[in-house]
Amino acid sequence: MLKAVKIRIYPMTEQVAFLNCQFGAVRFCYNTGLRIMSHRYKRHGQSLSAKHDIKKLLPVAKKSRKYGWLKEADSMALQQSCINLDQAFQRFFDSRQKAVYPRFLKQAQKNLKRKQQALSRTKKGSANRAKARLLVAKAHERVANTRHDFQHKLSRQIVDDNQAVIVETLKVRNMMKNARLAKHIGDASWHALMTKLAYKAREQGKHLVKIDPWFASSKTCHVCQHKVAAMPLSVRSWDCPACHTQHDRDINAALNIKHQGIVKLKADGLSVSAHGGLRKSGMSPAAACKVGSLARGASALRAGSSHDLQ
Ligand SMILES: [Zn+2]
Repeated sequence: MLKAVKIRIYPMTEQVAFLNCQFGAVRFCYNTGLRIMSHRYKRHGQSLSAKHDIKKLLPVAKKSRKYGWLKEADSMALQQSCINLDQAFQRFFDSRQKAVYPRFLKQAQKNLKRKQQALSRTKKGSANRAKARLLVAKAHERVANTRHDFQHKLSRQIVDDNQAVIVETLKVRNMMKNARLAKHIGDASWHALMTKLAYKAREQGKHLVKIDPWFASSKTCHVCQHKVAAMPLSVRSWDCPACHTQHDRDINAALNIKHQGIVKLKADGLSVSAHGGLRKSGMSPAAACKVGSLARGASALRAGSSHDLQ
């Protein structure tokens, strides 16, 4: 398992110059590699690998008169730029969902807007502009840090409190197409939370069970398993037409997800004792809902994590 620590450095003037040179060289390699790959594909329909084909061009470029300056840059950093490019292509083709900014962003939006307006009023190239730009960047950073902090605390608590956590993988990509939901879903960064849950669970030898997004968790009554034809997002509570149980949309979905997860765990040969119901963790439902505009996802976590393995 690879774990990283983020640190901030305050380089001296000559170090700044050195780093800028490195960054420039890395950026140059990345962009040139991208250009070569796109060109080759458009012209000849041939796909190159950044990790193999482009990387091999680095020593050739260093020997040339035109790109000889690349020799001054750290060779590992240049190689890494090829690997990064390769990963970017892979993510693109895998259509993987990127974790995006924005309920944390919404809260900070007023502040951001004010700072951005202040920035736009400053003169290009002025010292005030540089100051204003820094304030905007700090406001953005704060949003990201707040989100990460919240997700770390939440995932830590969920993993510490439970032997297994069952989550529904959501079709975030499709949901992002819904303009009204996109911002909230982005704000929740479901994927980032899943990542944190996954490594914390793995660290402690606990189980993270993922339920397929096409499992009809919302439409199925958790009491009698009756499945209704449709369940628009606007419906927050409903009565089962078969057994007449009243359901909160999210809690019902969460219980279904939990049940499905237990089935999966048992299929993997684990003996499961589910205590059932919603065990209260220290986190309030309101806090849980903050995880996602998808209150459902949050509830799924809330209820789905409430069982122990023996
Ligand atoms: Zn029912």
